[in-house]
Amino acid sequence: MFTVLQIFQVFTIAWLLLFLGDFLSTFCYHIPEHVFGKLHLQTHHAGKKTFHHYAVLLPDVKVLLDGFLGALPYLLVAIILWHHSPLGVIGGLLLGQLHVWWRHTTALGWRTSQSAQFLCHLLGITTPEQHWVHHQKVTHAFGDIFTCFDPPAKVWFRYLRWLRLCGRSLLITPVR
Ligand SMILES: [Zn+2]
Ligand SMILES: [Zn+2]
Repeated sequence: MFTVLQIFQVFTIAWLLLFLGDFLSTFCYHIPEHVFGKLHLQTHHAGKKTFHHYAVLLPDVKVLLDGFLGALPYLLVAIILWHHSPLGVIGGLLLGQLHVWWRHTTALGWRTSQSAQFLCHLLGITTPEQHWVHHQKVTHAFGDIFTCFDPPAKVWFRYLRWLRLCGRSLLITPVR
């Protein structure tokens, strides 16, 4: 039997994995990829795709690579947290995977119930409808799992875009 403390530890580790994973994935992969890369834009934001495409359930190399690179930060956090609670890590990874599928159900025409939307709003969790905004407007609604990452992510996005512009103008400006 589990003690209350062990149950608390499992939930804390699962939450920590998702929170740190989403933070690292957003700031180290998702936004840099939006600014400097092409893969994520080509696979996740180009045209109208199916649920299986967005939910990384297709045997397509580019889709799988984008999904893997987005998931890599979660896996690194999982390794770090493993010895604290293997059950919490497994639970966190499972919940993260379920959220990937759930947040793309808009592509199936599903709508989130009012009560689920209210609960997500209370917990600061991204709903499929909120994530769909990101699919349509690439500079909006960052934070795949947690909505709190959206405001700092927008600042990071603008900063990296400014860096890219500086880099371009440096390359274009002839050296005297
Ligand atoms: Zn998506
Ligand atoms: Zn994106």
